[in-house]
Amino acid sequence: MARKVLVLGEVRDGSLRNVSFEAVSAAKTMAEGGDVIGLLIGESVASLAPQLIQYGADRVITVEDAKLKSYTSDGYAQAVLAAVEAEQPEGLVMGHTALGKDLSPRIAAKLGAGLISDVTALEVAGGNVVFTRPIYSGKAFEKKIITAGLLLATVRPNNIAPLALDESRTGETKSLAVTIKDLRTTIKEVVRKAAEGVDLSEAKVVIAGGRGVKSAEGFKPLQELAKVLGGAVGASRGACDADYCDYSLQIGQTGKVVTPDLYIACGISGAIQHLAGMSNSKVIVAINKDPEANIFKVADYGIVGDLFEVVPLLTEEFKKLTV
Ligand code: FAD
Repeated sequence: MARKVLVLGEVRDGSLRNVSFEAVSAAKTMAEGGDVIGLLIGESVASLAPQLIQYGADRVITVEDAKLKSYTSDGYAQAVLAAVEAEQPEGLVMGHTALGKDLSPRIAAKLGAGLISDVTALEVAGGNVVFTRPIYSGKAFEKKIITAGLLLATVRPNNIAPLALDESRTGETKSLAVTIKDLRTTIKEVVRKAAEGVDLSEAKVVIAGGRGVKSAEGFKPLQELAKVLGGAVGASRGACDADYCDYSLQIGQTGKVVTPDLYIACGISGAIQHLAGMSNSKVIVAINKDPEANIFKVADYGIVGDLFEVVPLLTEEFKKLTV
């Protein structure tokens, strides 16, 4: 059954986040040959439309307004609801990011729609779109369908492969005029905590440090390894609680969920709450002094040793490969 599916492209610092292309790929599966329509919201975002089309959207609609310069659930909800009203889609997809997690329940509530969040895979079976999502902190997966109304889903970054970029694809970009009512909250300024580096939740390589790094200074070898591998640095809550790094780096049940191609855990014991945020990584390497550490149970490769010896050695070896 062909469906019309709307996909929210997520813009950060003037660029589309990768998860937008993954969401387009998910929308393509849901659409079963129907129209996939990109939706871009912001102050000035139309120039990003061709990229969404090259990744598989058939056309793009934009909602532009100075009030949409920064994300607010209030403003974005008005824009998304107007697009849904104008297009009457059967499906709506966005990233399971901080933005998507905030916006999607509001949209679901306003439309009385079913919402399936944190989707890691999807397929069409028996005429239904079947969504797979983790439960019990990633220890099991459930498969779910929405039986009536709009199919609203958020997709976990780094799980659904984007379609191949096709620079020859073209499509229409249309601006949708929406009168954004006065917002109840206004963002005056955005102050970034981590000014540089790869976005942790979308990184293909994550080097994570735990209490075993022993100090803020102890994160330096991890930062160097991350730099060589083009990855991001993350942390256990143990390291954050000890003030070795900022809480924005925390991975786990109460932190970020990451699914990189390579996760290197350094001086992390592997508490269940930490595993909840990283155990679905494709390849896990653990470096720990204690051969009995729980982290080795989920690791594909384990190195029993002192991280301050092992990490610089790895950095040197990877440097040789990347020269
Ligand atoms: P530790 O458990 O102290 O482990 C340090 C490890 O470093 C040890 O295994 C040690 O052998 C090793 N080590 C020490 N020195 C070296 C060295 N030189 N070289 C190599 N290895 C070395 N935790 C999270 O991470 N994320 C969460 O989201 C989270 N949420 C939580 C939510 C709740 C409700 C609760 C109760 C807890 C939560 N925790 C979370 C905390 C979690 O239970 C653990 O306390 C925490 O993950 C431990 O961090 P750690 O592994 O860095 O520290």
